[in-house]
Amino acid sequence: MIAIDGPAASGKSTVARKLAKRLGFSYVNSGALYRGIAWLTSEHHIRPTDAGAVCGQMRKSVFSFDLKGKEMVFSVNGVNPEPHLRDEEVNRTVSAISAIAEVREFLVAHLRTFLTKDDLVMEGRDIGSIVFPDTPYKFYIDASLEVRAQRRAIQGQRDDLFFRDRADSSRRSSPLTIAEDAHVIDSSTLTIDGVVGEIVGRLKMQGLGEALRLD
Ligand code: C5P
Repeated sequence: MIAIDGPAASGKSTVARKLAKRLGFSYVNSGALYRGIAWLTSEHHIRPTDAGAVCGQMRKSVFSFDLKGKEMVFSVNGVNPEPHLRDEEVNRTVSAISAIAEVREFLVAHLRTFLTKDDLVMEGRDIGSIVFPDTPYKFYIDASLEVRAQRRAIQGQRDDLFFRDRADSSRRSSPLTIAEDAHVIDSSTLTIDGVVGEIVGRLKMQGLGEALRLD
């Protein structure tokens, strides 16, 4: 189980997916689940700050979570929300949704079940600190706000990173923090392959080289 945390647009999704491919592990993007609840909430015209209504809708919805082709797939009430997860409305509301303790408890419990299905590279905000605190393989990927904003602009997305980072870092329930034993990588001046290479180097130092056939 390899945990990769970091702020928005730090490059962690691209890195985590590439790393998982290299190791033959499954890749799980935990942010997609928080985005899924944000999408569900907006579909039902519920204010993201109305925790009671958000949780009520979540409780009466039917979720399915699985791994397919080494990646997580999920549906809500029979619908795959994937095409909507990067909508501007979701970018704007997801931090309020993810600050709700009951939403976090629900999703953390499901995220933990993936470990019974395969070896994982899982990325998010609290994977090393809360979801899998016992894993010795924890990475925190950072980049300057300027570089992260540039990356989002290139992706053509409207996403207020500063607002999301502040909300994610200051919420009461499992805020974005650097786990004490995480290896921190500043990706501002690194390529994706450079970051993956640094992680692989670290995993070798931790004695995984032979088991994972890392050369
Ligand atoms: O990783 P991504 O930017 O897609 O995550 C979207 C949002 O989901 C984050 O801004 C954060 O509010 C929430 N999130 C979280 N905990 C995680 C993953 C994501 O709170 N493990």
